[in-house]
Amino acid sequence: MIYPWQTSLFSQIASRRAHLPHALLLQGCPGLGKTDFASHLAQSLLCETPQNSGEACGECPACRWYEAGYHPDFRWISLQEEEAVDEEPIGEAKPKKTPTQITVEAVRGLSGFMTTSTHRQGLRIILIAPADALNVHATNALLKMLEEPLPGTLFLLVSSEPGRLAPTIRSRCQNVSINPPTASESQAWLAQQGIKQPQLFLALAGGAPLEARRLATQDTGMRTNLMRQLSGYDVSLSQLSEQAIKMPTPEWIGWLQRWAHDLLEQKLVGHPRYHLDFSEALEHMARQADLYDLLAWERQLREARRLAHHPLNARLLAESLLIPCLAMR
Ligand SMILES: [Zn+2]
Repeated sequence: MIYPWQTSLFSQIASRRAHLPHALLLQGCPGLGKTDFASHLAQSLLCETPQNSGEACGECPACRWYEAGYHPDFRWISLQEEEAVDEEPIGEAKPKKTPTQITVEAVRGLSGFMTTSTHRQGLRIILIAPADALNVHATNALLKMLEEPLPGTLFLLVSSEPGRLAPTIRSRCQNVSINPPTASESQAWLAQQGIKQPQLFLALAGGAPLEARRLATQDTGMRTNLMRQLSGYDVSLSQLSEQAIKMPTPEWIGWLQRWAHDLLEQKLVGHPRYHLDFSEALEHMARQADLYDLLAWERQLREARRLAHHPLNARLLAESLLIPCLAMR
């Protein structure tokens, strides 16, 4: 799967198929389809009879294996669901924890794959996404492989937060930036996907079209309710917190972060960037808000977002993060 904003980048890389480095780091903001791009590229590089454009033929044995998910010269390393080990009820199915790391076992699992010769006499490809989820031990194991590259082997690392990758890994990869399309290209694509109000959702997604489509198709109205209450006069702190914690913690903190950014942008450049449907309320609140208080609130939200996967008490957290906003109404 490749998106319209990736076609020229694809042609550039595909045209160098005989001269690729041993590792590419595909980076760009979330919601641009980087992993889909990496997978599309992997298939085209493994294809045994590619088209002149570099695209996979879709018919050769390599393409058929790839599409069925078991090409013998391809491995895909991603976040695996972990089984929760603590407090599981005895005799019942173990609940699944949301995985946050790629562990060393996943990287060590490549050792047999890396030492045997390739099955199809072509490239051997390892796709790692999200590469910034590699933990310390996994990073060290991967580093050994990147330091002594095997001929005919290509690592495709995908990351939305390349700053979280070890510099030693980054320095051994060739960087490839996946850039967002222009706003008009994105809006045209979203409209083609049947998204109503493409401009609003694109703004909420910070310009990333796939994230905009996800927000539009999964919109439950909770963001609108929270922001309406936040900008109203007659809603108490506990009602606001109640509304916020109906959403997963990272999500409502994310919306507040964007609200804080909007207030800052409104104050400094005269218009909001994300919540375009609340521009009047933002204009009013930005007038009430003190710049230094806003900067402090933005910092508080950023810190909370970093720890959002492990909140001790969601309601207390919500109240502490919403208090600074009340004075701006
Ligand atoms: Zn093919």
